[in-house]
Amino acid sequence: MTLWTDRVRPETLGGLTGEVSLADDAVDARDAIAVEAPFTGEEIGTVPAATEADVTAAVERARAAQAEWASRPLERRTDVLSRFHDLVLDRREELLDLVVIESGKVRRDAFEEILDVATNARYYGSRADEFLTTRRRHGAIPLLTRTEEHRHPRGVVGMISPWNYPLTLAVSDALPALVAGNAVVLKPAEETPFTALRVAQLLEAAGLPEDVFSVVTGRGSEVGPALIDRVDYVAFTGSTETGRAVARRAGENLVDCSLELGGKNPMVVLADADLDRAVQGAVHGAFTNAGQLCISFERLYVEEPLYDRFLRRFAERTRELGLEAALDYGVEVGSLASSDQLEKVEAHLADAVEKGATVVTGGEARPDVGPYFFEPTVLTDVTPEMDLAREETFGPIVAVHRVADAEEAVERANDSAYGLNASVWTDDGERGRELAAGIDCGTVGVNDPYPAAWASVDAPMGGMGDSGLGRRHGREGILKYTQSQTVAEQRGPPIAPPDVPGVPRDVATRLYARTTTGLLRVLKRLAEVR
Ligand code: NAD
Repeated sequence: MTLWTDRVRPETLGGLTGEVSLADDAVDARDAIAVEAPFTGEEIGTVPAATEADVTAAVERARAAQAEWASRPLERRTDVLSRFHDLVLDRREELLDLVVIESGKVRRDAFEEILDVATNARYYGSRADEFLTTRRRHGAIPLLTRTEEHRHPRGVVGMISPWNYPLTLAVSDALPALVAGNAVVLKPAEETPFTALRVAQLLEAAGLPEDVFSVVTGRGSEVGPALIDRVDYVAFTGSTETGRAVARRAGENLVDCSLELGGKNPMVVLADADLDRAVQGAVHGAFTNAGQLCISFERLYVEEPLYDRFLRRFAERTRELGLEAALDYGVEVGSLASSDQLEKVEAHLADAVEKGATVVTGGEARPDVGPYFFEPTVLTDVTPEMDLAREETFGPIVAVHRVADAEEAVERANDSAYGLNASVWTDDGERGRELAAGIDCGTVGVNDPYPAAWASVDAPMGGMGDSGLGRRHGREGILKYTQSQTVAEQRGPPIAPPDVPGVPRDVATRLYARTTTGLLRVLKRLAEVR
């Protein structure tokens, strides 16, 4: 296949390398990190491996730029998001080329990233005032205490992102941070730096001042800790293992962090589900981005009466999926992102088969299509001692289990250390929503694999258990990038025993205690009738 398009050429990527935020000295002394195109395995460019000094310089520049940015009226900051929204849609095809070339996903899956970025830009661009404007709160004593809650930016946010959604994870979580008045320094994954660098250019074209959003490329083990040590908040997306190291480091620095981590996501199919929709949902939910989606399904629990028909149809539909290394919209399944990913998928499958799992369809690498392609794979007879029963595979392998009833399905869905995303399929929406609320995951779709919850950006999204801390989207997704400050003005007598000349202190204090007790009783009664 031809990797390059009219919109994205080798020179385009070479130009993007110049966008990396580096210290001014010794530019040539850094080693280069090679970036490859998973479709072919060929090197498409290099980016510098930033040093600790580069991180220091990037954070200092960000800090200097942040103060002026935060002082701008909110409407001027939201205007940038509005223009960025339009630019992303205008440059859609170029961005898709870049994401596809760099990540090896297919175009239709890459389009979900455009959708996500535009949705977040619109949401925070139009709703930020609701979250950030100073609010009156109930004062300690009605009428006498005037209390306000301010929301101040934290300062410089360090963002660390993985390779699987190079556009979304470079910017969707950065938008609320920026509109709240922070600067952001992003460390993208080593595998996918170019999309992040293009995002930095587009934000600047949308009117974001220089250095308010910058990108430092480099190795996670070097740039990651250096960044965490210098910023005022850490927004991390990646594996649970790295997330724990990030949390430890942030904790040591007493810097708050959000952690969007891995999952082992279950899908529950009840006997009354619409079979076609459920099969389509399982294919979408398990094989989008070749299963390299944090919220994709790796465990399916199907109620007994539907199990045989479901498995047959799901296997048939999976077998029909077309794998291709091509840039156009028609391709259904793309490549795994790297040789590491392929190795992990093959190791999980080999372990499962050795321990008795049955391959219903798929199960083979496809070097004839591209070096890291792997067939969408459906397994049965998966048992708890297999690695893939509990660990995140992060590939196109899904295990289908037969369950007696909905209760068993929910119990087994909850039998995991992770708690990111789940879905329930049934003809009875009310029952589905009820069961969904009993599944220990941060998002649960009813008759939908993940887009409905993911795109409902007014509602929080994130993980329970080992899937993370904190939330993106909605109120939580922006307030985490702020520090609250309470300002309370006491207009009447102080909330303390009065100092009355000529009255002994114990008498005045007893009187104060008695009156305040009466007041507390009245306040409780008022709270009860409210
Ligand atoms: P990873 O944890 O290996 O890397 C993520 C990022 O952390 C990369 O930029 C990496 O360079 C950096 N990093 C590595 N070591 C570091 C360290 N010691 N300190 C700081 N940063 C460090 O994850 P990955 O393999 O790139 O991504 C796949 C994982 O991400 C999967 O587990 C997937 O489920 C998860 N993920 C979660 C979400 C979510 O929203 N919950 C979204 C996408 C991916």
